[in-house]
Amino acid sequence: MHALGRVVETILLSVIWVGLPVAPLVVSLLAGDLSYVRRYRQTMRQLSRQLQAMARAEVIARRFYNEKRAAEQSTTWKIEGECSHCGECCLFQTCVFLDHDEQGRSRCRIYGNWFFRRLTCAEYPMTKDDIELYACPSFRAEPVRQVAQVRLGRHAIPVVARNAGPERTVEGGASPRP
Ligand code: SF4
Ligand code: SF4
Repeated sequence: MHALGRVVETILLSVIWVGLPVAPLVVSLLAGDLSYVRRYRQTMRQLSRQLQAMARAEVIARRFYNEKRAAEQSTTWKIEGECSHCGECCLFQTCVFLDHDEQGRSRCRIYGNWFFRRLTCAEYPMTKDDIELYACPSFRAEPVRQVAQVRLGRHAIPVVARNAGPERTVEGGASPRP
């Protein structure tokens, strides 16, 4: 799946590179903001930085394996934290939609729209690797305690007959859930 993702990513990034001259118009339409077209050269420079960052972060390829990886990691790692809006997960601060408020906190110009909801960043961070990728300062992956698994394993469980018979044990009986 990772290899397929890399192939699709290479193709899509190549197509975007070829179509770069019209990208400021597309970005303007997506954001509902014509300033991207008015600042054409600046937008082009930023888009080329963004495309390099997309390749570095495997943004498209991650769509192919991140959900599976998140499911695998969910038994061993729990993600905790709260975003402090540093903007680093916005493609290392290169995303053309990245903006900042008066306090310097990152914000997204297309947050919540139909296009945003299809992006990898809409679900960040899904995995421990996601956190490490952008060195997110606010989320962390904590090891999951294995208590539940120990309780559900095979045990010798004492079974006591109701009418006072002698005590006996059975192997592998289901233990009551906590
Ligand atoms: S890197 Fe972490 S703290 Fe920074 S904007 Fe992304 S989620 Fe928020
Ligand atoms: S959250 Fe918005 S600004 Fe950040 S990477 Fe995603 S689209 Fe770009």
